[in-house]
Amino acid sequence: MSVDPLRFIRPDFLDLEAYEPVKPLEVLAAEIGLPVERLVKLDANENLYGPLPEVRDAVAAADLHIYTDPTQSRLREMIAEYLGVPAEAVVAGAGSDDLIDIMIRLTSPSAIVNATPTFGMYSFLGKMGGARIVEVPRTPGPAFEPDIPGIGRAVRAGATLVFLASPNNPTGNALSMEQVEALCNMECIVVIDEAYAEFAGRSAVAQVQQHPNLVVLRTFSKWAALAGLRVGYAVAAPQLASHMMAIKQPYNVSVAADAAARVALEQRGVLSERVSAIVAERERLTRDLGQFDWLRPLPSEANFVLVKVVGRDAKAVVSGLRTKGVLIRYYSRPDLAGYIRISAGRPEDTDRLLEALRAL
Ligand SMILES: *Cc1c(COP(=O)(O)O)cnc(C)c1O
Repeated sequence: MSVDPLRFIRPDFLDLEAYEPVKPLEVLAAEIGLPVERLVKLDANENLYGPLPEVRDAVAAADLHIYTDPTQSRLREMIAEYLGVPAEAVVAGAGSDDLIDIMIRLTSPSAIVNATPTFGMYSFLGKMGGARIVEVPRTPGPAFEPDIPGIGRAVRAGATLVFLASPNNPTGNALSMEQVEALCNMECIVVIDEAYAEFAGRSAVAQVQQHPNLVVLRTFSKWAALAGLRVGYAVAAPQLASHMMAIKQPYNVSVAADAAARVALEQRGVLSERVSAIVAERERLTRDLGQFDWLRPLPSEANFVLVKVVGRDAKAVVSGLRTKGVLIRYYSRPDLAGYIRISAGRPEDTDRLLEALRAL
């Protein structure tokens, strides 16, 4: 007898588009014909300085045979001290992606607002959660301003969860305090994803106190160079945070990630010097890319720059750079047609990029 397992799968999962995975670096290096060390990886907004030795030591010393603390008490205390909020306002997770998922499961929304173009995880996890994704497009580039009145209309039409990245990936622009206020006055939960806040020097965390429907997401992936370890957190009103704590997977932050994040916070002085260096490279990128008459870099508050390619094929630029070992991000979406995204790395990474661009 043969039982068809597909009969028991949620029907809308049967024809879900598969998530397009990024190829492992070794595979890419082999395809390009360069050693991995020669690749300049500017395609995923990672922090190319890598983790601090103290953080590596903490991971090596962690008690990997013991379950992690489900109350995350030491980590939440330290994050709370970092931000100047009560520990009860903090919920940690396996990257901010985990917190996006927790918010979707907690609210089980019938509709979610997505201000496109933006980070793909809100619509991916929203669909997983069975929600309808209401796209409220940003204004066309290069402004890419969120349509606040349009979001208001979507909320009045029944959307209960609104996601906005600030600074936004890939457009690099951040929300003003007034825009955050306007969103928080809507009848819904507003999630502001601040994955790049440390590069921007502005944040909506202080507005959580006035707005119990505001959730701010932060992560150690970018500023602390821990993308591969998976640790992020949410800041929310304690009452809402306690419900998030109640439904999260109890062991969502691994022992290694917990230890690494705490040491990163202890070492934030050194890490913030690297953040400053990356911001300086972002500014240099913006200036130097503007010297090419076929590139129009957009201003950015994050660790990457979105660039309009004019008079040349953006895809050909990406593949041309790739043959020289420089990896950047290309988009096939119509609202980003002609755009490429370049992450800010170390000075030597910018040097390699500019050299490769001149040689195209
Ligand atoms: C990189 C990025 C994240 C990071 O997610 P983690 O799960 O914390 O690694 C979150 N949001 C946006 C907009 C990003 O670009």
